[in-house]
Amino acid sequence: MSLLQVQGLCKAFGGVRAVDQVDFALAPGELLALIGPNGAGKSTLFNMIGGQLAPSAGSIRLDGREIAGLSPRRIWARGVGRTFQVAATFGTLTVAENVQMALLSHQRRVFSFWRGAAAQHRGQALALLEQVDMREQADRPCSELAYGDVKRVELAMALSNAPRLLLMDEPTAGMAPAERHALMGLTRRLVDERGMAVLFTEHSMDVVFAHADRIVVLARGRLIAQGPPAQVREDARVQEVYFGRGSTFAAGPGEGA
Ligand code: ADP
Ligand code: MG
Repeated sequence: MSLLQVQGLCKAFGGVRAVDQVDFALAPGELLALIGPNGAGKSTLFNMIGGQLAPSAGSIRLDGREIAGLSPRRIWARGVGRTFQVAATFGTLTVAENVQMALLSHQRRVFSFWRGAAAQHRGQALALLEQVDMREQADRPCSELAYGDVKRVELAMALSNAPRLLLMDEPTAGMAPAERHALMGLTRRLVDERGMAVLFTEHSMDVVFAHADRIVVLARGRLIAQGPPAQVREDARVQEVYFGRGSTFAAGPGEGA
């Protein structure tokens, strides 16, 4: 049974078909990588699932219920969490306070935080930090953290409404290779422990092939291949369209951008 079902999904910007007739599904407990060259439509697809963009056509169902075109807040309330490429923590607050803020925001009670309700949700925040191996740094200001640790705090914040589906747009951007693998290893553990599904975009082919259960490949808005890593790696169309004729994954597009 699919948790997420995307069918015939399209988004046009003027004459550009950024996402064109895309179909795929995602099951609970699955870690799915979305890859493709720059401009392939990955972010556009993410933004339609998260509600930041309304589709031009097609359907996005969560547990069989249509969510296409709903506001980000309503989609989030149905159990879709998201992390962003740009760090979104408050540097002046501590690690624990950032997670407490995320917990409070679910109740539209952010302002009570500033009226001295800081102790609220402290226990819950610490439990979430434990899950991302950041419990020991709970009382440090976020501004003092290493970049990889900020990403862990963001992951804890995204987990604060217990999402069934987590969208991670380039979660490891700006990280060194060892940090990338550590963050995705942690994500894997959370997927297994919580039965949560994760859809992520990632530039490092090493990371994608090491951690994803399944890969969806986009090129110019179209889904050109999907399947387990070993199958996608061998796909002639993927090699040609995504990596350039005759090139190999080892000599792929590399990092960044
Ligand atoms: P990716 O994330 O795979 O790099 P995007 O989804 O950002 O690709 O972009 C897909 C295509 O849609 C590109 O041609 C891009 O220029 C275009 N596009 C994306 N967002 C907009 C927008 N807001 N307005 C116009 N064109 C856009
Ligand atoms: Mg993008």
